[in-house]
Amino acid sequence: MSSGSLIDLKNLTLEELSALLAERGQKPFRAKQIMRWIYGRGVTAFADMTDLAKDFREDLASWATISDWSPELVEESRDGTKKYLFRLADGQTVETVRIPMENERATLCISTQVGCAMQCSFCLTGTFGLVRDLEPGEIVNQVCAALKDGPVQNLVLMGMGEPLHNLDNVVKALQILYLEEGLNYGVRKVTLSTSGLVPQMRELGERIRVNLAVSLNATTDAVRNELMPINRRYPLKELMAACRDFPLQPRQRITFEYILIRDVNDSLQDAKRLVTLLHGIKAKVNLIPYNEHEGSPFKAPTAEAIEAFQSYLLNRNIVAIRRASKGQDISAACGQLKGKLEKAQGRLPAPAAEAAGQGD
Ligand code: SF4
Repeated sequence: MSSGSLIDLKNLTLEELSALLAERGQKPFRAKQIMRWIYGRGVTAFADMTDLAKDFREDLASWATISDWSPELVEESRDGTKKYLFRLADGQTVETVRIPMENERATLCISTQVGCAMQCSFCLTGTFGLVRDLEPGEIVNQVCAALKDGPVQNLVLMGMGEPLHNLDNVVKALQILYLEEGLNYGVRKVTLSTSGLVPQMRELGERIRVNLAVSLNATTDAVRNELMPINRRYPLKELMAACRDFPLQPRQRITFEYILIRDVNDSLQDAKRLVTLLHGIKAKVNLIPYNEHEGSPFKAPTAEAIEAFQSYLLNRNIVAIRRASKGQDISAACGQLKGKLEKAQGRLPAPAAEAAGQGD
């Protein structure tokens, strides 16, 4: 996001800022100094960067700006989950969810696109189609704004959008989030979730380190084709091969997200096939019972089915964690906040807005 012809420094990696400053005869350490002000101290006015010379600050203000976000809407659930809705410079909106964890910790679920092209059938975001990619600064600003509301230890790129469909901007955003002089997130604290864009998964592994989560949700191509149309392009065999090849650090695993849907993918045969699919992959499985809604075509699994599925995996030494759906009373599953707002503004037909949203 730039205002007029000014360059928004939130869009720049350290290398890009250093290069711009070098063109203006400034030393590279100035870029680190500025990053420290922006991300370490949350300063967004050049005038407040008191260890920079006054003429340098004035020069910066003539060609650069630093965007600073506040949410347009905040909703808090009974369990403490918070949804923030941000209005972008072009009027589009994007949502971010803060999920409270044990010991006063929090995970932030951030978006990478407005809408999504992947059209997963269980996800409300998918019904909008893709509106546009988020810029690096628009990804980073979700974190900066949430930090004003309390510390955030973990980041998950699991909100609106398919992160690997916006790979260049997502890689830049990660570089900014990892910056030692800035927010200094460790690579183990950040997880990127994909619906399974195989070539981009391989490219991601070559370009940057991040925890990988794969939204799997099915154990046969027939079912996955229906739930996640991307599977028609990159079927399970190719997807699992890309997972096997993904570079992992010692003790690192790939997370497989599996939304359990009654009579669709929650049988013991599915659990069995899942064990076969995961063979040879350092994996952990997150089982997420489907969040049922009025008008949704899918049903939540029974407690017995969840239990049996999880036990089957655990008995075969697969780490399988049941994820509680948090924030249900405020529809915090990915895609739902935007759906609610747009419905209120009359932009979406009611049935689409009521279809359950559950992002990857
Ligand atoms: S689940 Fe994720 S990839 Fe699928 S449509 Fe929703 S946002 Fe896109």
